[in-house]
Amino acid sequence: MSKTEIKCAFCKGTGKDPFDLLSELATCQVCGGRGKVEVAEPAIECVFCKATGVYPRNARVTCTVCNGKGMVTVKGATKECSKCKGTGTTMDSGLPCIKCGGKGVVSKK
Ligand SMILES: [Zn+2]
Ligand SMILES: [Zn+2]
Ligand SMILES: [Zn+2]
Repeated sequence: MSKTEIKCAFCKGTGKDPFDLLSELATCQVCGGRGKVEVAEPAIECVFCKATGVYPRNARVTCTVCNGKGMVTVKGATKECSKCKGTGTTMDSGLPCIKCGGKGVVSKK
């Protein structure tokens, strides 16, 4: 499987911890300070965090769906998840959709 390098969504490519959790100079935990991360292709934008890499409603932790990368790997042809209607989010709880895992799409059978 091929990989592509993208800008780290969590730190927006700065390589620094965006929330200064440890110290001002702390490196980004997602990319290890490189400002870039690798994702396996094919990858799509993470709908759960809207490609920000930040967990919605708890804006200090990494998105658990994309691990803070802002992109998620999908397998082959996909279609919109019927359960969350492509949002990746369970409406009442705000948690990632259990059917698609928060990606908003599921594999076409
Ligand atoms: Zn980063
Ligand atoms: Zn995400
Ligand atoms: Zn879903």
